Amino acid sequence: MPETEREDLSVIGSSQSLSLRAAEQEQNRLTNEKSVKPIITIKGLTKVFTLGREKVIALNGIDLQIYPNEIVCLLGTSGSGKSTLLNMLAGLEKPTKGSIVIYGERIDKMSERKLAIFRQKNMGFVFQSYNLLPNLSAIDNVALPLSFAGVKKKVRNKRARKMLKLVGLGKRMRHKPTQMSGGQQQRVGIARAFVGTPKIVFADEPTGNLDTKTTIEIMEMMVRMARENRQTLIIVTHDIEIAAYADTIYHISDGKISSVEDNREKQIVPGKQGHDANESPPVSSDNQPQDLSQASPGIIAAAESEPEIPPIGEIITQDAEKEAEEIEKILEKSDMSEIHTEEK
Ligand code: ADP
Ligand code: MG
Repeated sequence: MPETEREDLSVIGSSQSLSLRAAEQEQNRLTNEKSVKPIITIKGLTKVFTLGREKVIALNGIDLQIYPNEIVCLLGTSGSGKSTLLNMLAGLEKPTKGSIVIYGERIDKMSERKLAIFRQKNMGFVFQSYNLLPNLSAIDNVALPLSFAGVKKKVRNKRARKMLKLVGLGKRMRHKPTQMSGGQQQRVGIARAFVGTPKIVFADEPTGNLDTKTTIEIMEMMVRMARENRQTLIIVTHDIEIAAYADTIYHISDGKISSVEDNREKQIVPGKQGHDANESPPVSSDNQPQDLSQASPGIIAAAESEPEIPPIGEIITQDAEKEAEEIEKILEKSDMSEIHTEEK
């Protein structure tokens, strides 16, 4: 780390109380020290799609490392290869060349079956078109990842209810997706992605179908959750305003990383934009206060009398293997429809 940055941090640290921002920067500084190992390492990643006689080079030699608790943005125009890269990171597609190591495991070499379990244990997903199951209520959609992990109904419903309250949908538990606005559906999507506190959350154009105001709500919600649970958040977008929330911005162009931007000094911190952290909680578009802003520290670990269930990675059972195939199908279906739709 350059000396100037170090000095800046010491100034912040010596102010009367360590603000959230300074705490985050300190955490990020630690992340960048050599003692912190990357959780994801990609080397020489190449993906070539063959369409008849034509070859599309979607990724052309990507190297990158992602650290624990890092908020990463893959930023680029439509067709630059962002979704392909995200899908590789999530093990949804195999590379043509190169390697992907996550938590010490070569996920590009894993069998589909092992991958499904690995994803279940470690990853959550937020999609541009929400991908909620239309026949399930909000609560059942959110509880789904827990049911695949073999968590008992009573416990998973309790947890799902709690998540829905956190995203400001306490009064929409029984609503089906069609009975909710886009912003509300995406909040259900976020609750579902975070319900099992996976270590990594992927979001591909999560606000691509939402208006500006809702976009800010959704971004703040995701970033806040990731911060409070010390998760790694990887966001794909074409929108620089979204990228502004990230610690690190990878500019993707023609299947390559054209530049890497350390955004920590100027990033948007939830609660600091438009509304102050000391004011009353932000009100969402449907005028429901979002409990989220008060759920600190540690959203999932919030004080509660009911017994907590551990992170999803610790509760995966043998039974879950069978169910993993099911979630696999759902994810694949959702993902494939995502890749081929142009973002707005
Ligand atoms: P982005 O998410 O940045 O818009 P994508 O990763 O979806 O870009 O696509 C990168 C390039 O790869 C595009 O030219 C796209 O048409 C191509 N591509 C993506 N998926 C496939 C596929 N399954 N088959 C053929 N070409 C694909
Ligand atoms: Mg895309």
